[in-house]
Amino acid sequence: MPRPTQIPSFDRKGAVDRVLRLMEIPGKSCEESLVVQHLRTALLEAGYAENQITIDDVHRQSPAGGEVGNLILNLPGTLKAPRRLLMAHVDTVPLCVGCKPALKGNVVKSKDKTTALGADDRSGAAVLLTTAIELARQKLPHPPITFFWPVQEEIGLLGARFVNLKHLGNPKLGFNWDGGSAAMATIGATGAYDLLIEVEGLASHAGVHPEDGVSAIAIAGLAIADLQKNGWHGLIIKGKSTGTSNLGVIQGGDATNVVTSRVVLRGEVRSHDPKFRKKLVTEFKQAFERAAGEVRSAAGQTGKIRFMATLKYESFELPAQEPCVQSALAAIGRLGLKPETKISNGGLDANWLSVRGLPTVTLGSGQQHVHTVNETLQLDDYLHGCAIAMLLATGEV
Ligand SMILES: [Zn+2]
Repeated sequence: MPRPTQIPSFDRKGAVDRVLRLMEIPGKSCEESLVVQHLRTALLEAGYAENQITIDDVHRQSPAGGEVGNLILNLPGTLKAPRRLLMAHVDTVPLCVGCKPALKGNVVKSKDKTTALGADDRSGAAVLLTTAIELARQKLPHPPITFFWPVQEEIGLLGARFVNLKHLGNPKLGFNWDGGSAAMATIGATGAYDLLIEVEGLASHAGVHPEDGVSAIAIAGLAIADLQKNGWHGLIIKGKSTGTSNLGVIQGGDATNVVTSRVVLRGEVRSHDPKFRKKLVTEFKQAFERAAGEVRSAAGQTGKIRFMATLKYESFELPAQEPCVQSALAAIGRLGLKPETKISNGGLDANWLSVRGLPTVTLGSGQQHVHTVNETLQLDDYLHGCAIAMLLATGEV
């Protein structure tokens, strides 16, 4: 176990108050104005100048729209070194809206049992805010730094996907706080496609002339059975290749006496391997096309498939020698923690930044059981996250 050395000092009570306050502010994806304004005001109060703080217009590029853009604080360095990016998303899942955080011992929970907490990712947002405030308060020397609070992470990593990298000042090392254990560095993550499948059949009277119809439900049923039986639905293991898939939404039909002419399905496929991920998409497409050919009316008509696969996020894996990984692991070690690395099966803002040329490692800030009413914030991990951010922001590691 490495021994703790030179742990940076910061106002721990201030850091705790800050995260409690941030978790209270409603701000589901696309409705982040209150939290962005709260952070901006806190930065101004810390002494940063208006012209160092930008709110971009990413919501105008985002397919989801939204009311506000990403918040960015750009600082020139007092030390000469490559620019570093510290980031954490500000939106939460809708389940967090209305949350009243309650601190008990070292754990924060929601007072109301019907809401999540929003530690995902207000804990990360508070790690950044604390670091920015402490840099100003203690007048600490630091390399050029960009603090980046993206919007719209929970609905597809959109703030990070569409941010103009020039607005971030072209940093070379990226650090993202959006996780649990402070000892864990996530150095890669899977990639995913969204699937939209429209099955077009042919309507007819189900009692009088069912043979004149082509049932879209029957086509979908055959396709799903085919995928399930052949190991392409759910957890997928084919030799050395692995992935997951899920058909999560199926909609269609409005009467029992009509042969259903239309069904729409939505699903996803994921794999760390881009080639295998494309193969999963092809397997889904072919299964539905085969099924469409198997269901015929008496006159020989068949159904039609409209199949759309959209890349949600590309996978990435940072090499161990990547400077951001090396610095992150060194910072964790400085606190006396044993650094661990992992590859995530979920997408992160770091996916888009890493794929767009800014290698970004994701670190812990105390979140547990995110997206559920059992969500908690572990204060030890959160405060360790703050200390790690201080080390990274001051270029100590
Ligand atoms: Zn998150």
